[in-house]
Amino acid sequence: MTRIFNIVPEGSESLGKAGAKVLGSGVLQLSSLPPLSLYVHVPWCVRKCPYCDFNSHEMSGDLPEQDYLAALRADLEQALPLIWGRQVVSIFIGGGTPSLLSPQTLDEMLALFRAYLNVWPDAEVTLEANPGTLEAGRFKAYAQSGVNRISLGIQSFQDAKLKALGRIHTADHARAAILSAQQAVSRVNLDLMFALPGQSLAECEADIREAMSFGTEHLSLYNLTLEPNTVFGKFPPSGLPDDDLAATMQDVVAEWAAAGGWERYEVSAYAQAGARCRHNLNYWEFGDYLGIGPGAHSKLSFHDRIIRQARAKQPQSWISKALQHDGSHIAESRELAPADLPFEFMLNALRLRQGVPAALFSERTGLSLTAITPALERATKKGLLDPDPTRLKASALGWRFLNDLHTEFLG
Ligand code: SF4
Repeated sequence: MTRIFNIVPEGSESLGKAGAKVLGSGVLQLSSLPPLSLYVHVPWCVRKCPYCDFNSHEMSGDLPEQDYLAALRADLEQALPLIWGRQVVSIFIGGGTPSLLSPQTLDEMLALFRAYLNVWPDAEVTLEANPGTLEAGRFKAYAQSGVNRISLGIQSFQDAKLKALGRIHTADHARAAILSAQQAVSRVNLDLMFALPGQSLAECEADIREAMSFGTEHLSLYNLTLEPNTVFGKFPPSGLPDDDLAATMQDVVAEWAAAGGWERYEVSAYAQAGARCRHNLNYWEFGDYLGIGPGAHSKLSFHDRIIRQARAKQPQSWISKALQHDGSHIAESRELAPADLPFEFMLNALRLRQGVPAALFSERTGLSLTAITPALERATKKGLLDPDPTRLKASALGWRFLNDLHTEFLG
């Protein structure tokens, strides 16, 4: 699935009944509210991949689709007071493996969102799909229900690499899924990974060349990382490229994509002209999102405060708690302190190659730009930030060493 870098701070408290804590008076002054997106988490996968640190759970038997839908409805109903009257600009159904859901369930889910929410007529509606779960006609049925963008977890076109990653699909499944997705919708993203166990530079090039040959509008190209609390984190696979080779692969991948017409507009995201992922752009521009489903995160702004929430992670626990209608499915809810906002904003905005207009900082955080003037000056002096005062944008050096740049904005 698409990796989005956002943080939910610890030390949070349960929202408990209703949203009294959320709806009290805060200390910020936001002149306008940002665009609002909806994220829906589908937590099940056929098998857990050894590198995966997402909230995904191996399914046993049939999916509890009706219980899931009922809980999703209950989750959404309880969230409505937090987003009354606001328009939803994009919907992202991620996971896990949303393509495990039957077309009927997906249709009911999207009908539910249209009934409860003010969904923008042109809203981008993305569904993540695993090539290993493809059934004939499924993507077309999803499209008929309103999905207009499909994001495919391809990872590699080499069977040995897919096997090493523990994926359930083969290279031929991947090729067939891409063609099938392209027949169903015009907007297709391919997720590809590099720096894989035993991967040579030539194999990495072959993967990116084949991905580009399908002419999809969007590519997401990730360096395999070993995350704590994963099988690979505990037992690293042998034959991983060293840091130098992984960095060379990153450069080669970026060069190939640029030569083919895909602009690298974010650290891992490449798009043809006009084809950027609107949903993810809203995250990176510090927009708002309501996340429903197990473990989903939300960031919601009000005129005087910004909050973050996280839902209960275990699917069955989230289902039973959401159905109680007492707010207990919210595992964490926290108002962001003004001191946290500069880092949170920059953590997202500086991932964009062109950064963001400087004025967006005040618009989205309610803070004056002077709150980060010393950090901006420091980062510019170190050559990590572009000196243009009208934009908040990493320099070429800062983009390469993004963690160092982000650190400048820690409170
Ligand atoms: S298919 Fe995706 S979400 Fe599921 S376990 Fe593998 S990487 Fe994680």
